Amino acid sequence: MTEKEKNFILRHIRSIPDFPKPGIVFRDITTLLNHAEAFEFLMQKLTERYQTYPLDYIAGIESRGFIFGAALASRLKKGFIPIRKKGKLPSTTITEKYALEYGFDEVEIHIDAFRGEEGCKVLLIDDLIATGGTAEAAVKLITSAKAKCIEACFLLNLLECQGTEKLKNLTPVYTILDI
Ligand code: AMP
Repeated sequence: MTEKEKNFILRHIRSIPDFPKPGIVFRDITTLLNHAEAFEFLMQKLTERYQTYPLDYIAGIESRGFIFGAALASRLKKGFIPIRKKGKLPSTTITEKYALEYGFDEVEIHIDAFRGEEGCKVLLIDDLIATGGTAEAAVKLITSAKAKCIEACFLLNLLECQGTEKLKNLTPVYTILDI
């Protein structure tokens, strides 16, 4: 994507200081989603990139990864898999724990998310990568469910957190905006 195209998308992402707690600058994508032209432009770019990939499924991380992931899956005519916070998925799940700044969190995938097939090729998507802990746990879940993550895609990459460095050991990583 050209710098001009990246700037067009970036202009529609709002930064909210001190949310959800002091010191955090929250990158708010709702202002991109409610701008029809900017949202469509982003989805068109993602469609162009991934339409040549040999994908079977797209997996999105709760909750903003669901928005981009489901829209892309529909465009590419692929199935969509939600990776959710612990306790949200109703059937039998696999769980992966990951460290936060203080404490830990857990994400889950349905054990039969890939419909009983093995070796399915999966694109993982989320809005933002910071430390990479959530994405790393999500890739591990995909692997535990006997599928293969062929790329992890993020709209925003918080460079200072260096999450992509760690994640690159597990899967190829594509980020649109490095900030
Ligand atoms: P991490 O596991 O540290 O890479 O955090 C990534 C997850 O937390 C993603 O699902 C993001 O949506 C969310 N997240 C982390 N930091 C921010 C931020 N500054 N603004 C918006 N979302 C964030």
